[in-house]
Amino acid sequence: MKDQVIIITGAAMGLGLATAELLAKEGAKLVLVDYNENALKDAEQKLKEINPEVALLSVKADVSSEEQVKNYVDKTVEKFGRIDGLYNNAGIEGKQASIVDYDLDIFKKVIDINLMGVYYGLRYVIPVMQKQKFGRIVNVASVGGIRGVLNQMPYVASKHAVSGMTKNAALEYGKDGILTNAIAPGAILTPMVAEAFKQVNPEDPKAAEAQYASNNPTRALGDPKDVASVVGFLLSKANGYVSGQTIAIDGGESNMY
Ligand code: NAD
Repeated sequence: MKDQVIIITGAAMGLGLATAELLAKEGAKLVLVDYNENALKDAEQKLKEINPEVALLSVKADVSSEEQVKNYVDKTVEKFGRIDGLYNNAGIEGKQASIVDYDLDIFKKVIDINLMGVYYGLRYVIPVMQKQKFGRIVNVASVGGIRGVLNQMPYVASKHAVSGMTKNAALEYGKDGILTNAIAPGAILTPMVAEAFKQVNPEDPKAAEAQYASNNPTRALGDPKDVASVVGFLLSKANGYVSGQTIAIDGGESNMY
């Protein structure tokens, strides 16, 4: 990935940061996008510790704002002149509630970030990649983009949409050398998932975590590094022909009946 220009949204922690760490080691030029400015500064620090020479650009942006997405794309082209890869990763879970009780404002927020945020990224990055006749895009869906998940309807709807948008992007822009895939992580231990276990069992989130892990074929939760290695491949030139796929990274769990 040496000198490849890669934009990562939701880069300040969790899955975004784990991939940033891997790519920093490999010498990529990274654009870190997040709406949490303090966490973004901490992430920059960590990446410089991993590789003091790493070329970084941090842009504060909320991916649900079209204007702010256009801005992170413009800033990237201004600084680095091209975009080789987009890791369209920023997303939120929302609150857990049944369909009829779901808070409408939270419902719309989940759709705005998880669905529209990914779409805006495609809308503004693809024209840059088309001019280059090269690009690699990884959108972040979820096992909740393959199956239903109790009490998480907007999340499930948004992640199925990410998988659908991935298929369309692959169909429409493969001719321009742009390969687009999605990943569908299962439960990977990040701040977002830690928060979900708190909602499931506020008194003892670790018990909720152990219970969840015991149902996985591997009897374990995933590590963000397990996701980073797959994303690193999909964003690289080593991927020459995989496109339009939603790749589960879940220890095999989505195959269980
Ligand atoms: P996380 O909460 O640990 O980190 C997400 C990062 O995205 C944070 O830094 C946050 O500030 C940023 N972010 C959130 N909304 C944003 C917005 N509107 N604009 C800009 N930045 C924003 O979450 P994570 O677990 O690393 O999840 C990353 C992605 O992976 C999400 O799309 C999530 O749905 C998906 N996912 C995660 C898991 C998992 O097990 N961790 C499983 C399936 C899917």
